[in-house]
Amino acid sequence: MELPFAESWKIKMVEPIRKSTRKEREQWLKEAKYNMFQLKAEQVYIDLITDSGTGAMSDRQWAAMMLGDESYAGASSYYKMKDTVTRITGFDYVLPTHQGRAAENVLFSCLIKEGDVVPGNSHFDTTKGHIESRKAIALDCTIDEAKDTQLEIPFKGNVDIAKLEEALKKYGDRIPFIIITITNNTSGGQPVSMQNLWDTRVLANKYGKKVLFDSARFAENAYFIKTREKGFDKKTIKEICLEMFSYADAMTMSAKKDAIVNMGGFFATNLKDWYDMAKVKGIAYEGFVTYGGMNGRDMNALAIGLDENTEFDNLESRIKQVEYLGKKLDEYGIPYQRPAGGHAIFVDATKVLTHVPKEEFPAQTLTVELYLEAGIRGCEIGYLLADRDPVTRENRFDGLDLLRLAIPRRVYTDNHMNVVAAALKNIYDRRESITKGLEITWEAELLRHFTVEMKRAK
Ligand SMILES: *Cc1c(COP(=O)(O)O)cnc(C)c1O
Repeated sequence: MELPFAESWKIKMVEPIRKSTRKEREQWLKEAKYNMFQLKAEQVYIDLITDSGTGAMSDRQWAAMMLGDESYAGASSYYKMKDTVTRITGFDYVLPTHQGRAAENVLFSCLIKEGDVVPGNSHFDTTKGHIESRKAIALDCTIDEAKDTQLEIPFKGNVDIAKLEEALKKYGDRIPFIIITITNNTSGGQPVSMQNLWDTRVLANKYGKKVLFDSARFAENAYFIKTREKGFDKKTIKEICLEMFSYADAMTMSAKKDAIVNMGGFFATNLKDWYDMAKVKGIAYEGFVTYGGMNGRDMNALAIGLDENTEFDNLESRIKQVEYLGKKLDEYGIPYQRPAGGHAIFVDATKVLTHVPKEEFPAQTLTVELYLEAGIRGCEIGYLLADRDPVTRENRFDGLDLLRLAIPRRVYTDNHMNVVAAALKNIYDRRESITKGLEITWEAELLRHFTVEMKRAK
C-alpha cells in the first residue's frame, strides 16, 4: 500500500501542557471578562490564539543562538541574516526591526501622509492601523469570491485587478504604493497566485507605482503556488520565492511567522532611496541599522529559520496539518473558510450559531464555547475585531464573523487536532440550544478585541 504522509522532523524537546476542569474554566473565563487575551496561558490546554512567534525552533536554530554576535555595530549575525534574506528574496538592502509592525511603522513614517490611499488585497490589522493612524485610507481590493466561505477556489487571496485599476485611476497621486499581503491573512490565510502578483506589477508599472509585499507568510504562499498553479510544480520553493519578490519593490516581514522565530522582523528592498529614508527612522525607533531591535542570537536563528522554512518538506508538514484539521471538520460537517488556508482554519460562526444575533457576537460566543468545552483557545476574527465605524461609531457587521484556529508551527500533533475537532463537533451537535451571545461592558476606541470586557447576554 502507499505509505501515508508524515512530518519531515522528529521531536527533541517537549513542554508539558495541562488539562483543566470545566468548572475551573468557567471561573477563569468570568475573571477574564470573556476575553481570550485576558486568560493566563497556563489556563489553556491547546493554544491556537495565533501562529505568531509561537513556533518551535529547530536544533540548528538553537545551535545558531549560541553563536550570536552581540556587537552593537556590524555584528556577523546581521550579515548572516542579511545574506540569507538577499539570497531568498533578491533584495540587497535589509533593515532589521523587532517585529513586523515595527517594519511597517519605520517605512510608513517615510511614505504615507494624511489623505493618502493605500490599495491592495486585505490589509492585516496592524498594517491597517499604521495606515489609518496617519489619516490615510487602507483600500481593500480583494476579489469578491473571498467573502463566500463555502466557495472553493485555489487563490482566494488575490487582488481584484479591475478594482485596483479603478482605484489607481480615481486616486492617482494620493497613492504612495500598492501593498500585497502574502498569504492574505485576513481572508483566511488564502494565497495569491504568481499570475496575480505579475498582473499587479504590470498595472503598477502602467501607473508608475511601487509595490510592497507584506510578507509574513510568503513561504506558505510559495507552497500553494507550487502545488496549485500551472507551471510551478517542478520549481523549488526558493525559485518560486525569488520570482514572487521580483515583482515587488520592497517587503516588510514579520519573522514570527515564516522565519519561525519567537521575535523579529525586517524591511528589505532594492530601492536605495527607500532604504536611506527608512534607516533614519529605523535608528530612531528600533536601534542601529545592523540590529534594529533584535539580538545577534535572534538574527542568527532568523537566518536559519528562513532558510529551512523555504524548503518544501518543512512547508508540506505544516500545511498538511492545517489541511488535516480541515478534513476532520468536513467529516463533522462544520463550515469553515474553504479551502483550508496556510496557517489556520477559520470557522464560519454565523453558519454554526445561527440563533445568536449578530449584536451578540456569534464568533466570540463560539470562541468562548470552545474554551469551555475543552480548554482550547482560538481567536475571534469577526465583528469584535472589526471595531466601530470611526464616523458613525456603529458596530461594523458587514464583514465575516469567524473563529480562527491558528496552528503554531511544529508544536502540536495531529492528536491535538483530533481533540480540537471533537470539541467543535460537540458544540456543533448542540448548536440549536445556543441562543444567547455576549454583551460588551467596556471597550477601547481602537483595536478593542485585545482588552474588551464582556458578559453573557440576558
Ligand atoms: C503578524 C503580521 C503582521 C505584523 O507583524 P508582527 O510581527 O505581529 O508585528 C503584519 N502583517 C501580517 C500579514 C501579519 O500576519
